[in-house]
Amino acid sequence: MQLHSIIKKKTTIEGKGVLNNRISEHILSNLSQIGIKNHLVKRLNMREQIIKLVEIIPIEFIVRNVATGSITKRLGIEDGTVLKEPLIEYCFKDDKLGDPLISEEHILAFDWASKKEIDKVKKMILRINDFMIGMFRGVGIKLIDFKLEFGRIKIDGINEVILADEISPDTCRLWDSITEKKLDKDRFRKDLGDLIPAYTEVAKRLGILHEQSNVSAVNITKLSSVKRKKK
Ligand code: 5GP
Repeated sequence: MQLHSIIKKKTTIEGKGVLNNRISEHILSNLSQIGIKNHLVKRLNMREQIIKLVEIIPIEFIVRNVATGSITKRLGIEDGTVLKEPLIEYCFKDDKLGDPLISEEHILAFDWASKKEIDKVKKMILRINDFMIGMFRGVGIKLIDFKLEFGRIKIDGINEVILADEISPDTCRLWDSITEKKLDKDRFRKDLGDLIPAYTEVAKRLGILHEQSNVSAVNITKLSSVKRKKK
């Protein structure tokens, strides 16, 4: 995320990791099925996953379908402007520098990735975006924007670039298709409250949690504390 000040808002929200773990597993497994190689091996339990070790490319790939967030501030674009085509932006992964926006030329100049890798990643991003737009549209959610990361790995002796890191309401902006209610981390960033109910709503709509299940912030908190005590 682009930072406009040095202070980063941070806190631990009980239960969020459990929901993100399930949502990310769901999305990455579905992406695997359409041929997008990614780091997920399997979800181990409520809070942990086994993932493939990759050499992470130090770039955050931001994909935007609708302008909101940092781009509106940076360029004075009206919030909610629908983009004609998906827009891919690159940020250099460095917390101390606030993940600054960079161009493809910077990536090549400093050898952060090769032209071949960038071209491959761009193709993957557009397929991932198409798939995720459809998946969320089917459950009444607009995929506004999201962040992806990629890593290098050798598979059967061949160098590959695969999707790495989680995909969840922490890394995507998700708005209800009708009401435009925010169902993502902006509830925390903008102090809107009700973050766990929003993430739960996303999980329920994706069919990960049953509609009738009485999973609530309290229940998830209890479950996660039990898990921790066992360790
Ligand atoms: P923006 O640049 O507007 O702040 O963020 C664009 C999109 O990328 C949002 O969906 C946001 O959640 C995601 N994003 C950008 N940087 C980060 C980051 O460092 N961490 C996480 N979790 N998401 C990010």
